[in-house]
This record gives sequence, structure tokens and C-alpha cells, in this order.
Amino acid sequence: MRLRNIRGAGEVVSNSEYTVKEPRDKKGSWNQVFDSENPLYIEIGMGKGKFITTLARENPNINYIGIERYTSVLVRAIEKLNQEEKLPNLRFICMDAGEIEDVFDTGEVDRIYLNFSDPWPKDRHAKRRLTSKRFLERYNKILRKDGFIEFKTDNDGLFEFSMEEIPEAGWNIVESTWDLHNSSMVEGNVMTEYEEKFSAKGNPIHKLICNR
Ligand code: SAM
Repeated sequence: MRLRNIRGAGEVVSNSEYTVKEPRDKKGSWNQVFDSENPLYIEIGMGKGKFITTLARENPNINYIGIERYTSVLVRAIEKLNQEEKLPNLRFICMDAGEIEDVFDTGEVDRIYLNFSDPWPKDRHAKRRLTSKRFLERYNKILRKDGFIEFKTDNDGLFEFSMEEIPEAGWNIVESTWDLHNSSMVEGNVMTEYEEKFSAKGNPIHKLICNR
């Protein structure tokens, strides 16, 4: 994602009622943040937030947290939220997902979404891919034992890598497709900003669901 420095983004993000200010303090007690025992689904690398905001609107009985590294991106998600509408089941965290174990306790998360994650094509950057073994180890700790990860991308290299890396890390790929929009897996699909952009260009969208 091309990043522009957006003046005031940090302030808008930290002043938003949707942003969690000290997320490490909430480890093990996210149900108190939402004041509910409903399941907790997170999206890592949420970008401008269309996917997670739509899910939160459609599923009031699930709690959602979107994680994004850059305030300059997260600010767009906050700006897009209708001021009149309240989504009590939605929060955002501005952080690097490499620190996710500091924020969620063992088994505290019920589902993880990874959408159009940065491909990091160079071998020396493979550890930064959100489907690398290093990240899967982190997800292994925070994800409920019978929880799922759902991953979408249009990037062939990243999808191929993930289809190999995930089983090597001891996870099962329970369903996958190289062409989501022409497969049965498309049922109930919520498009992300990147998905709209790349599918409009004719790129097939790949998806896998895994557990362990
Ligand atoms: N998920 C959105 C979509 O599909 O439209 C955005 C996709 S964009 C290519 C990837 C996003 O993930 C960027 O906004 C980037 O800043 C964020 N990101 C990448 N690595 C991250 C990390 N380690 N922690 C948090 N966010 C990350």
C-alpha cells in the first residue's frame, strides 16, 4: 500500500472512540472492553476497514477488532464510519501484528482474517509475511483451539507460499480455491477494498481456510 503522511492522522486515530489506546492492558479481558461474552474475530492488516466494518454491522453478536500498523491508513477507516451509527462490537488497534501475543491471551481469539496481506516477495523478507511460520506460531497461541484463519489474496506467489507453509507449520488447510468469485466458497463473501480493486482488473482472488 502506498503511504502518504496524513497530517493529524495520529490525533484522529487516538481520539476515536473506536481506537483502543493501551491494548496490552486488555490482554485476557477483551470481553470487558465489549461488555459481552460474544466471540472475538480479528482482522490483521485491515487497511481502510471496509471488510471488518461491514462484518461488524452485519453481525452484532460477534465482536470485531481490526489491526492496522499505520495511522495514515487507519484514519481512513475511522473517517468512513458514519458518525450517527454506533457499532459497539467494533474496535481498532494501531500496532504491528508482530506484537499480537502481548495483546491477546491464550485462546482469546475465535477467528483471524488476513486479507490481501503484503506479499514481501524477497526471500529475505519471508518472515514478515503474515502467513509465515513465525506468524502462525503467534496465531497458534492466541487462537482458540478449534478456531479458523481465513486468508484471501490475489497474489499468486504469496498464495503458493501459504499453501505450502501452513501445512508445514502443522496446520490443516480445510478449504481453498484459486478463484473465489467463481467457487462455492464465495457464499457470504464480503469484499475488501483491495479485493474490489483487483477483481475489477480481472485478477482471480485466492482464498484458504485453515485450522489445526
Ligand atoms: N486488508 C485490506 C484490504 O484487503 O483491502 C488492506 C490490504 S493492504 C495490502 C495490507 C495492510 O496490512 C496495509 O494497510 C498494511 O499497513 C497492513 N499491515 C501489513 N503488515 C502488518 C503488520 N505486521 N501489522 C499490522 N498491519 C500490517
